[in-house]
Formats: sequence, structure tokens, C-alpha cells
Amino acid sequence: MPVFRTFKLWLKRFPPVLRSIRFRLAVWFVFILGVVVVLFSAFIYTRQLQDLRLIAISRLEMRSQRLRAFLRFSGQEFFNNVPSHFPSDPLSGESLLQEGDILALAAPDGQVLQSWGAADAQAVNLLVTQQYKPGISSESFSFERVPLGPGEKNQKEYLTAFFAISSDERVVGYFLVGIPVDPANQMSRLLVSLTLGIILTLVIALVGGFWLADRAMRPVKIITQTAQTISDTDLSRRMHLAQKDELGELANTFDEMLNRLQSAFERQRQFTADASHELRTPLTIVDLETSRALEAQRSSQEYERALKVIHSENQTMIRMVNQLLMLARMDAGRINLQKEDLDLSDVSLEVVERLAPLAVAHGVRLSAGELPELPIAGDRQYLVQMLTNLVENAIKYTCGEGPHVQVETGSLNTEQEVQAFVRVIDNGAGIPPEHLPHLFDRFYQVDEARARQEDSPDSRDEYIPSGAGLGLAIAQWIARAHGGEIDVRSEVGKGSVFEVTLPMIVELESTQAG
Ligand code: ADP
Repeated sequence: MPVFRTFKLWLKRFPPVLRSIRFRLAVWFVFILGVVVVLFSAFIYTRQLQDLRLIAISRLEMRSQRLRAFLRFSGQEFFNNVPSHFPSDPLSGESLLQEGDILALAAPDGQVLQSWGAADAQAVNLLVTQQYKPGISSESFSFERVPLGPGEKNQKEYLTAFFAISSDERVVGYFLVGIPVDPANQMSRLLVSLTLGIILTLVIALVGGFWLADRAMRPVKIITQTAQTISDTDLSRRMHLAQKDELGELANTFDEMLNRLQSAFERQRQFTADASHELRTPLTIVDLETSRALEAQRSSQEYERALKVIHSENQTMIRMVNQLLMLARMDAGRINLQKEDLDLSDVSLEVVERLAPLAVAHGVRLSAGELPELPIAGDRQYLVQMLTNLVENAIKYTCGEGPHVQVETGSLNTEQEVQAFVRVIDNGAGIPPEHLPHLFDRFYQVDEARARQEDSPDSRDEYIPSGAGLGLAIAQWIARAHGGEIDVRSEVGKGSVFEVTLPMIVELESTQAG
């Protein structure tokens, strides 16, 4: 809208303080208050005027009665000898012409014979002409603005009565009496008082409104200043506004957002530091191995050993990079699970069969327990990945006499739903209880050194590359993405049980019956 745009451009020419919300709030406040005060004053003014007019009517009624009585009493004599000074009431002796009054006597043809009082002859003529109608016999009242001097300012409101004077049922003349509606000039004094009152109110409202708006907007200033001091390297600043109003709520929301951002940044920083740390070890080993092999002529067995080490470390790095990529995709929400109807036991059996050679290579007995049919909705590829992580761990960390890993499935009835579970049970070293709460954290390893030592590839073709503590984090994400959970129970020296529970598809009884 061009008008709106012009207004905005016009506003931009103002100094910043006049464009501020504080100032605009104050102006709006004053404007609304001004409208209210003006309307209220107008109401008081008109009410006062109405009251004065009502009083004037009753005053004029009394006056015209007394004048009629006087004229009746004076009779024809008054007409024959019209006095230039209006006489007093012969009974009471009171003057019949009071200050500010207008009196006039007119002939039956409406011609003014004599006038007395405040108005000049011209004004009186005009008044009589307005009221006079040939043959009029009834009394007529009207409010008129009468000029008492030159200019608008000297006009005054009068209430006039015009009546005929009859003798022997014949109109012998007319009489006009006018009294000022506001003899004491109350209305002009009221107008001055109201105007001064309005101006004073608006000035106080403008100053007070600006002060109030300034106070109300102060938290916004604090928020702005704090936001300006926050940089991408320091997210520690907070508003800490103790106010319990909308702005306090805004500042709290801002603080909470900063908390979340700071911890997300912290996690990101930690993640990068951990990932670099984990990659440094295999890279250093590859560097050492190649330097040593290249230092001098080596036997073919020594070259083979060096290549095996390099290959092993490479496998470790490939696995870690793949895991990091998967976690990054998970964090970015870029993983779309392709869910289909599956049998959890079938998926478990597939993992057991796939990892059997690995178990053999590690000297571990891998077996499947009871595998009843367990319908679930899931992404096969990701569920296989989750179980592979768990079974590989079990194989990797199982040692001692007769190492054995068992995978079993079943179902649990909870109050709300039926759940399918898969347990990976090993009789390995177990995990000390203090590590259990952190086991699913990224890069968390119970014993990093042990994890690496046990993965020496020297004597094996089938081996599990060293982990970086990401396998369980990924497994937990997959379980949760399927609406399930992973739990771990472990006893040092006896072994561990990793249990994944997933919601099971329960067929309705009617369908079963059908
Ligand atoms: P990694 O790839 O290093 O194995 P995980 O996230 O899979 O990382 O496991 C985290 C840590 O949990 C491992 O370093 C290991 O110490 C411990 N852990 C996992 N599974 C077992 C298990 N079955 N028995 C004993 N310790 C285990």
C-alpha cells in the first residue's frame, strides 16, 4: 500500500529514539488517553450547558409571567407613553429589567417601538423579526445567539420569549424578553478549565508513558546486549531475568535455548575431539609400520606381518569412519527406516549364521537358543546391524574357559503391550557396575587397552577390528528408532546379557478366529 510505505519512509527520517517502540507506545498511550479525556470533557460540557438551559427556561417562565402581569396592569398607558428606562414592578418595587436582559416592545405589525437592556437595536430587530408572525397570539420560546458587540467572541446565547399583548381581544403589540442562558459566564470558565486539564493530563501521560514504556522495554535492552556478546566460541552468557512476566518468559526461553545450543556445541566439540583421538592411534600404527618396513631390506615374512598390521588398522579406520557417518546421519535425521513385517527370530538366526565363522575364529561357541516366531515391524538391515554389534561384542569380550555366546528370543507381556525380546548372553569377563550407566555413550570404552590387545590379527583371518566405543551407541539408536530399548545386565567374572525389547505386532483375536 503506497500510503503505508510513505508513512514508513516518513518514519525513517526521524531520529532513532522517535522510531523506538518506547516512543511509539507512549504516543499511542497519549493518543488513546487524549481521545478518552476529550470525549469525557465534551460530555461534561454539554451536560453543564443542558443544565443551564433548563434553569434558564424556568427562570424565563417566571420573568415572562411577571412582565405579562406588569403589562396587563399598565395597560394602554404603557403603549401611549413608552418609557426609555424600563420601569420597576409597581407592587414589589423590584427592577423588571435585570442585568444582561433584553426587553423589546413591538407594534402589531412587528415594528420595534422600544428596546431595553444589553443588545443594540439591530440585534433586537433581528430577534423580533425571527419570532414575529402576523397574527401570532401564543407565546414562543427559542434559544438564539445574540451579538452583544462586534465579532464572534461577543455573541452570547439567549433564551427568548415572544408573546402578544392583547386588549379587548385585540392584539395591541408584542413583547420580547431574552435572558442570558449563562449569565455568570460559567461555560467559558469551564471550557478554559477543561482545556487546561486536557493539556496537563496529556503532558503527564506523555512523560509517564515514556517512562513506563522505557521501564517495560529495559529487559529487551538486556536481552539485546547479551545476545550481542554471545559469540560462536562463548555461549556461556545468560540473561538470568528474574521477572515473572512475558519478557521474563522470553528471556528464560532464550536462556534455555542457549543451554541446548551450548550442550549441542559441547557434544559436537567432544565428538570431534574423540573421533580424532580414536583415529590417531591406527594412523600412528600405520605410519610406524610403514616407516619400519621401509627403513631397510626386510624378509618377505616381515613385509607380510607389516602389511597385516596395516590392513588391520585400515579395517579399524574404515569401520570407525562408517560408524561416524552413520551417527552423523542419525543426528541429522537423515535415516529413513524401511519398515516391513519381520520375524525377530528370523533376523537373529541370520546374524548367528553370519557370525558363526567369526566365533569359530575366536574360539567361541556361538549358539541360538529358543527362537519362536515373533512378528515385528522393522528395517531388516538396521536390525541386523544392531544385533551384529551386540554379538560381535559378546564374541570379542568373551574369554576364559569354554567361551560361549547364546542368542535367544521370546516375548514379554507388559501391562500396555506385548514385547518381543532378543538376548545376547555371554559368559565372558562381565562389566563392572560403575561402567554400566555410560556403556551406551559415544566413544565410551570400559578398557580401551584391552579392546585393542585382544584384537591382534596376527594369527587370525577372521577378526573384529578394534572398536571406538560407538557400536553400542548405534545399537541403542536403532532399538529406539524402532520404539524399543536396550538393557544390560552384567556380573564381573560371570558374563553379560544384552537384551533388546521391541514392540510386537499382535494379531487381533477376531482375525485369529477368522
Ligand atoms: P566397541 O566398538 O569399542 O566395542 P561398544 O560401544 O560396542 O564399543 O562397547 C562399549 C564398551 O562396552 C566396550 O569397549 C566394552 O568395554 C564394553 N562391552 C560391550 N559389550 C560387552 C560384553 N559383551 N562384555 C563385556 N564388555 C562389553
